[in-house]
Amino acid sequence: MLTGIFMLSDIVIILNEPSHPGNIGAVARAMKNMGLSRLVLVSPKDYPSVQATARASGADEILEAATVVDSLDAAIAGLRLVIGASARSRRLPWPLLDPRECAAKALEHWQQGDVPVGVVFGRESSGLSNSELERCRYLVNIPANPEYSSLNLAASVQVICYELRMAFLAAESLTDARGGSARTDSALATADAVARFYQHLEQVLTSIGFVRAQQPVSMMRRLKRLFNRCQLEKKEVQILRGILTAIEKNSKSR
Ligand code: SAH
Repeated sequence: MLTGIFMLSDIVIILNEPSHPGNIGAVARAMKNMGLSRLVLVSPKDYPSVQATARASGADEILEAATVVDSLDAAIAGLRLVIGASARSRRLPWPLLDPRECAAKALEHWQQGDVPVGVVFGRESSGLSNSELERCRYLVNIPANPEYSSLNLAASVQVICYELRMAFLAAESLTDARGGSARTDSALATADAVARFYQHLEQVLTSIGFVRAQQPVSMMRRLKRLFNRCQLEKKEVQILRGILTAIEKNSKSR
């Protein structure tokens, strides 16, 4: 039977360019305490490091199993839902969740087989850039003291992982009461398939003159927000890519 703890193994925590190895260790510990195990590090400044291992304090296996990649795109490529943790809630006009809603979304995706789900955390110094946040379907903000709202990186991972655990424990007790439940196979497109579609779309819109060189950022942002709202399925991305290819062929043959 699939249990809540099993669900937590489908959640990936991504640290984008963390600079302090101590924080990486503290994140591993926070994750293990809450039953999560999948950690991805994007270009960590100082890693591996004895400081990370010391702060992991018994959660070393999470560090050993952690994947290190050199770009955020590589980190999120196989994910079916990407959520970005941001200390500044109004930085970008983007769908915003609190940690409880974030956990509910992750659970919803898990139940539909739309996993893995990833939560991306930013640099200690500057968080996530707008273009990094735009790669996320939702943003999650911990509604902290507005005058002092930026948590330590590992502390923010702890809060998010706690809510994930609570959501999954609640689901587990429901599942037990019902005698177990199955998931369906995912129909949703992966983040890299959606990213390739956005690139293709921008390329075609530029080539037919719909998007001009000086405005693609704002226009593309609006379009991405639109498509992000629909939770594109694999088949739908294929159809949209097919439409773009037909437009390209048609405009070349004129
Ligand atoms: N100085 C940065 C904050 C960096 S804190 C800034 O102002 O953006 C490092 C990371 O911890 C953030 O990028 C975010 O992923 C997470 N974090 C910190 N406080 C948070 C909060 N209140 N809500 C959600 N995530 C938070």
